[in-house]
Amino acid sequence: MHIEKIDIFEKSKHPIIGAGPCSAESEEQVMQVATSLANKGVTFFRAGIWKPRTKPGCFEGVGKIGLPWLKRVREELSIPVATEVATPEHVEQSLAAGVDILWIGARTTANPFAVQELADSLRGVDVPVLVKNPVNPDIELWIGALERLNNAGITRLGCIHRGFSSYGEKIFRNAPQWQLPLELKRRLPQLPMLCDPSHIAGKRELLAMLSQEAMDLNFDGLMIETHCQPECALSDNRQQVVPDELFVILDRLVHRTICGESNEIARYRALLDEIDNDLMHLIAKRMQIAREIGEIKREKGLTVFQPFRYNEVMERYTADSALHSLDVEAMKDIFEVIHSESIRQQLKIVNGI
Ligand code: PEP
Ligand code: MN
Repeated sequence: MHIEKIDIFEKSKHPIIGAGPCSAESEEQVMQVATSLANKGVTFFRAGIWKPRTKPGCFEGVGKIGLPWLKRVREELSIPVATEVATPEHVEQSLAAGVDILWIGARTTANPFAVQELADSLRGVDVPVLVKNPVNPDIELWIGALERLNNAGITRLGCIHRGFSSYGEKIFRNAPQWQLPLELKRRLPQLPMLCDPSHIAGKRELLAMLSQEAMDLNFDGLMIETHCQPECALSDNRQQVVPDELFVILDRLVHRTICGESNEIARYRALLDEIDNDLMHLIAKRMQIAREIGEIKREKGLTVFQPFRYNEVMERYTADSALHSLDVEAMKDIFEVIHSESIRQQLKIVNGI
C-alpha cells in the first residue's frame, strides 16, 4: 500500500486526540463542546452527522444541516473537524462543507459493497480517511477496506480500533480483542492507529483504564466522545464525558517510553496477554458447562468420574497435540489439571456444596 502521513496528525502533540460528541445535535451543542475543547491540545473535533443506529426510531443524526456547524468549528476555533461517512452522498456533502477528516464506521467497514462505493466516490480526492474496525473480528475485512480506499488513490489513511461485537453478557459494549489492532499495526506499521475507548467501553467509567491500555500498547492516539451534558445526549449517553473529565483522563495518562527492541517485545507480550485472557475465558466457560453436567449427573444419580470418557478425552488430546506439533506430555499435564478441576467442580455440585 502506498501510504502518506496525515499532516493534521503530524502537527499534533502526541498522542493524537479526537474529541467531540457522538452526534452533532444542534448548533449550540456543537459550538459549546468545541469551545470547551479549543486550545486544549485536541487534534481534531469529531461529531456524527449521520448516525448508524441499531433500531429504527432512534436518533439518526441531524443530517446535512449539521455540516455548517462543523464549518463554524473549523473556521472560528481553528480545530480540524471529522465526521462519519457511509454513502457517496455523505462524502460529497462532507467534502463540499470542507470537512477535514472522514471516518468510516464499523458497520460500513463490514460491508465491502458499501466500502467500494465510498472508495469510488473518493477517487481523485485528497482527504484523510480513518477506517474503524468492522463490527466482527475479521482483520482481513479491515485491511480489505483500507486497500479499497488505497486503490482508489486515498493515501492518507488511518485506523480506529473501536472493539468488536459479541453476544451475551459482557463488561464491554464491544470487546477490545487487542490482538487484532496489534496485528494490523504489525502488518501496516506506517498507518496511524487510534483507539476509540468510548465505543469499546459503552460506559464512561471504563474510559480511563482503556485509554491507558491503548497508550501502553503504543497506539498513536485516542478518539473520545465528549459532550457538555452527556446524560441528555441523543445518542450514546452512557459513554460520553464532559470536557473536564476528558482533560482529567488525558492528564493522568502515563506515557511510557519504549524504544527499539523493547517496543517490539511489548507488542508481542500484549499478544500473549490477550491469548492468556482468552484462555481464562475459555476455561471459565468450560467449568460452567462442567457444573451444568454435574447437575444432570446429580439428578440422574450418575457417578461424577466416568473412566471411559476420561480415556476417550485423553486419547484425543494426545492425537491433537501431535497434530499441532505440541509436546504430548506437556499437553497431557495441562489437560489433566483442567479435567481434574472440572471433576472437583462437579463433586461440589453433586454433594450440594
Ligand atoms: C461513532 O463513532 O459515533 C460510531 C457510530 O462509531 P462505530 O462506527 O464505532 O459504532
Ligand atoms: Mn457514538
